[in-house]
Amino acid sequence: LVFKKTFSDLTSDQIIAQEKSVMDEKRFKHCIGVSQTARKLAKLNGYDEDKAALAGFVHDYAKQIPVEDYVKTIKEQGFDPDLLNWNRAIWHGIVGAYYIERDLGIHDQEILTAVNRHTTADTEMTTLDKIVFVADFIEPGRDFPGVDEAREVSYSNLDAGVGYELAHTIAFLAEKRAKIYPRSFAAYNVWAVK
Ligand code: GDP
Ligand code: FE
Ligand code: FE
Ligand code: FE
Repeated sequence: LVFKKTFSDLTSDQIIAQEKSVMDEKRFKHCIGVSQTARKLAKLNGYDEDKAALAGFVHDYAKQIPVEDYVKTIKEQGFDPDLLNWNRAIWHGIVGAYYIERDLGIHDQEILTAVNRHTTADTEMTTLDKIVFVADFIEPGRDFPGVDEAREVSYSNLDAGVGYELAHTIAFLAEKRAKIYPRSFAAYNVWAVK
């Protein structure tokens, strides 16, 4: 697990140590799985493998940052106040990108946008956005009904993987009658509708 210096102010060892310090072992393992899967998807789709591996590794950096920190950051850093009506499931992507730039010294906009979009997706998705979104869903540690089909679909066609994941996630949330972030619906209409 080594990241090239190209995309951050910190060394590979510093990034890994910092990330390890803000999450539990299970989440850290997930991030390694997403990194490896993102590298594989990058290779299949002609994208920079090292950049995808780093984006995948950091995508959940902010998953366990305390709620009070988020509330403070949303209020003080000019985020949409509507975010206060949501929770860490939504914040760790959109606001997480801010913490990643601040704590890991990653200023690359493509990486930060991919983190921003990794939970909800968006109507516009770059190749890196799609790689991280899909890798998060199909990394080796994931186990849910449909994961094997999701892997098959995603490895044969990245866009189809995005559509599969959005349909699955929205159905899962609706089944629980959970509140769905509007951007998720908008993304569903672009990427999942046949
Ligand atoms: P993780 O961080 O690796 O667990 O995966 P994600 O970042 O993709 O998702 C985090 C959580 O947010 C999961 O429990 C998703 O089901 C949930 N989630 C995804 N989209 C939405 C949404 O639109 N609304 C809500 N409330 N939750 C969502
Ligand atoms: Fe996440
Ligand atoms: Fe995801
Ligand atoms: Fe994740």
